[in-house]
Amino acid sequence: EGVVYAEVRRPCRVMILVNPQSGRGQALQLFTGHVQGMLTQAAVPYTLVITEHQNHARELVRKADLSQCDALVIMSGDGLLFEVINGLMEREDWQEAIQTPLGILPGGSGNALAASVHHYSQSPPAWNEELLLSCGFMLCKGLVASMDLVSIHLASRQRLFSFLSLAWGFVADVDIESEKYRHVGAIRFLMGTLVRLASLRVYQGRLAYLPVREAPKLPKGSIKTNQPPSTPQHPLLCSSLPCRLIPNTSPNQNSRHNHNSTNSNHNTITNSSNNAITTKNPEMQSDGKTRAPEDSLLPGLDQPVPESWTVVKEEGFVLVLAIYQSHLAEGLWTAPGAMADDGVIHLFYVTAGISRPALLRLFLAMEKGGHLECGCPHLVYEKVKALRLEPVSPQGMITVDGEMVEYGPVQAQIHPGLARLICG
Ligand code: ADP
Ligand code: MG
Repeated sequence: EGVVYAEVRRPCRVMILVNPQSGRGQALQLFTGHVQGMLTQAAVPYTLVITEHQNHARELVRKADLSQCDALVIMSGDGLLFEVINGLMEREDWQEAIQTPLGILPGGSGNALAASVHHYSQSPPAWNEELLLSCGFMLCKGLVASMDLVSIHLASRQRLFSFLSLAWGFVADVDIESEKYRHVGAIRFLMGTLVRLASLRVYQGRLAYLPVREAPKLPKGSIKTNQPPSTPQHPLLCSSLPCRLIPNTSPNQNSRHNHNSTNSNHNTITNSSNNAITTKNPEMQSDGKTRAPEDSLLPGLDQPVPESWTVVKEEGFVLVLAIYQSHLAEGLWTAPGAMADDGVIHLFYVTAGISRPALLRLFLAMEKGGHLECGCPHLVYEKVKALRLEPVSPQGMITVDGEMVEYGPVQAQIHPGLARLICG
């Protein structure tokens, strides 16, 4: 019995979830062909789970005995990780569960997190099998760093957790419409972009955000203080010190979780005269217990935004994109300064009036992260901690991490370092 115990207590037991339908439908073959041998050589014990339908992974993770699991790894596109993160956050023990290190192996057609993690490791760009090998190698090394999550509120009072993006307009349209070209792999986004360019649309809506207050710049000649450098660093060197996969020392606090909803959906984006968020806290339940974790920056969706927020003057948009990883897809380096745990939502929007060639130029420049240097007056970039988007156009698409969500008013706020990510 002692031997068995030693065997099952081996470090780093990994649950690998494979979506056989993701990408070109070859995720399982890619796993057995490229990753399995690597894990065997590195003596990483794992359990393989093949998903059978949408939300299978979400339900499984919601109920799983996580004490038997040192890491959750997704071999699919970003959509399956979105399921897993939301499954973890729906648990009563969410606070502990979300500390489970999460890994990604690119098997989908949209592999934004894999491309981002590879980028954070300061490696030159990689695609397809090369990217898969890179991520497989990181899994074997087992370095873990923290990752921000963004809490998203929809009009129906549903609340989601997101690790990648919130998109409306052009980007969301391309993401969803290009699903039908899934069989071509990552190229689907280029094809979708070209198709959408031909039928370019302007969406009416209102946008507001809480900007990140940058530390004031020191005047020239002033004495230098011991400030940390503002240039991007490797995530492992950042505030959240990396640790090996093996010790799972998470706070063991059981918090109650509930999907209760209160207020109505009506909302307008205007600054309230009162700076304080005085509305009933949507996270606070009648028994006084808090649902995880509290969104302290967000008023109710039916309340005006606080005075500290910036309300965007323009109301005609080609796209609004909030992204919190560096890459929107393989080959799309959208947020050049972004890191997994920088505590920032990188908000981009493109206002109405941009020409088709100018928009195409932006997307082409994005491969090398050069779109902000295009001098395009329609492209705006802000670092924010929270935002609210209120579409006025009656029809359109909103995506969270590449998955379509209900269309309507939506608001979001960052939760720095809430999750943990295998990277390195
Ligand atoms: P891709 O990048 O190819 O879109 P994703 O990981 O985003 O890959 O998965 C696409 C969708 O497939 C997600 O909504 C996910 O929930 C769903 N899904 C997961 N497992 C299965 C399955 N076995 N069959 C069908 N759909 C699935
Ligand atoms: Mg997807």
